[in-house]
Amino acid sequence: MTVRSIAQRGNKVLSLLAAKVEFPDATLAQLVEDLRDTMIHASGAGIAAPQIGVSKQVCIVEVRKNPRYPYFPEIPRVVLVNPSWRATSDSRFEHYEGCLSVPQLRGKVMRNTDIVVNYWDVDGKSHSFETQGIAAAVFQHEIDHLLGELFIDKAFDVCSEKEFFENKVQEYQAYLQKVLS
Ligand SMILES: [Zn+2]
Repeated sequence: MTVRSIAQRGNKVLSLLAAKVEFPDATLAQLVEDLRDTMIHASGAGIAAPQIGVSKQVCIVEVRKNPRYPYFPEIPRVVLVNPSWRATSDSRFEHYEGCLSVPQLRGKVMRNTDIVVNYWDVDGKSHSFETQGIAAAVFQHEIDHLLGELFIDKAFDVCSEKEFFENKVQEYQAYLQKVLS
């Protein structure tokens, strides 16, 4: 088990376009293990390789019961190598996000509601799947990291995590019910 330190906003590695993985990559298995250990340790809903200082196009998404995102749907663990996404409808919604690289803050980002994600698995086999709503937003957030983008740089209605949970989460969940149902 290797928990790596998480690069914080302002660290240059977070603003780089990450390099595509070329197979075979002898370091990939260890990178994925470190990402998973670090994500679980920090209660992330996902994590991208640049966040542990590795500028490569690898990220993980996984949501089980997560104290940082109590209203998120469960998302089974998926490791994405060289991922990309495209919208399958014009629908967008306001998604309140946080980030392990931007601690203690939440802010809204406009995210596409319906997307297709294309990616390679750790064996270099290509896959794609459709996803919607909060899960779609989580994938967009992680893929943004591989493009050198942080949510906070395009977020609005930014507040502290404390304020979000004390004053905004209920109203926001009502909004989600309305726009995603
Ligand atoms: Zn993030």
